[in-house]
Amino acid sequence: MRSDPDRLQFQIAARDGAARTGRLQLAHGAVETPAFIPLATRGSVRSLAASEVAGLGYELVLGNTFHLMLSPGPQRVAALGGLHRFMGWERPIITDSGGFQVFSLAHGRVADEIKGRRGRQPGRGTVLEIGEQGVRFRSYLDGSEQFLGPEESMAVQAALGADIALAFDECTPYHADRDYTARSMERTHRWLDRCLAWHDRQGPRRQAVFGIVQGGVHEDLRRAAAERVSAAAVDGVAIGGTLGRDKEEMRGVIGMTAPHLDGAAPRHLLGIGEPDDLVEGIALGVDLFDCAVPTRLARHGMALAPLPATRFRFDIRRAEFAADERPLVEGCPCPACAAHSRAYVHFLSRAEELTGVRLLVLHNLTYLERLVRGAREAIQRERFGDYRQAVLNGTPPWQGAALTPSGP
Ligand SMILES: [Zn+2]
Repeated sequence: MRSDPDRLQFQIAARDGAARTGRLQLAHGAVETPAFIPLATRGSVRSLAASEVAGLGYELVLGNTFHLMLSPGPQRVAALGGLHRFMGWERPIITDSGGFQVFSLAHGRVADEIKGRRGRQPGRGTVLEIGEQGVRFRSYLDGSEQFLGPEESMAVQAALGADIALAFDECTPYHADRDYTARSMERTHRWLDRCLAWHDRQGPRRQAVFGIVQGGVHEDLRRAAAERVSAAAVDGVAIGGTLGRDKEEMRGVIGMTAPHLDGAAPRHLLGIGEPDDLVEGIALGVDLFDCAVPTRLARHGMALAPLPATRFRFDIRRAEFAADERPLVEGCPCPACAAHSRAYVHFLSRAEELTGVRLLVLHNLTYLERLVRGAREAIQRERFGDYRQAVLNGTPPWQGAALTPSGP
């Protein structure tokens, strides 16, 4: 781990068990943690203007190296002043490495198996060759041949001007056997060294770099990866790869990884963001989460809600909501619930009106922002255990926060 306050400062303000709350200072501003990070895959959070995302309380978004390198291209974005200026977002940005997307092309249907779990769209296209240098593939946009390796990924992320760049890695799928997972992990570590060497020579002076812990579901590999990445000159650590076949195994993988990470450095759990996963991850000491869930659900007419029996969501297009005058979720402070009925969002969603998607994105992102905000407050008050249980039992996050008055 390196310590360079010009790139990143992380101050932990309070702890409650393994959970912690703090402040991440990056080149473009501060981020209160634990934080949920909305995806700005192609330079926008689906259907929202950047000012709206900031208005919901978000301080950090995640841009996608794979999609932005294919179009509009890193040179174009750099010529237009970098990704912050291009998308009109003045706060911090993290970019992924593109590794997940190019390896999803290769792992094909197996990647689909974990796609929902990691929550990112692999796009389409064809992998031509995977080697020590990187991955050669065909663009899904125009069929052109492309190459992405550690140096290329860092160069794209440098051109985009992200506050945090992620090292290039292979996201090993769940079905991969132990031997493949171990060899892939070793290569990911060699790629980490190349990413850091490139960044040392020509990376943006104020850009932080996170290394990625792989190792599948194998305890010894996760531990080796956690120690290896923590020992490198990174500014933070992301936990990637398959996290198992179900939520219980996911908690197990985080639990076998987190204790071997540098306790002073920020930890990002890649591609995870359902309400129960957020409180469980925070309980295990995770600081940052990104996930397509809130925006992807909105596209399919789904609203997040305090409903543990139905995976914290419901389908607003169901006939029963056609004349329902209540807001999506009673008490929700979002712009959709403040002004509109379920009946209206139901109608818009069935009619496939863009406003229907927008209202659901606003609601779903508000829901998760309130959930992590409540977690931060609960950790401050050393009541995170109660808060976690309240969320898991179906208490809305804004009430869960109220359940934790100061002092025991
Ligand atoms: Zn709402």
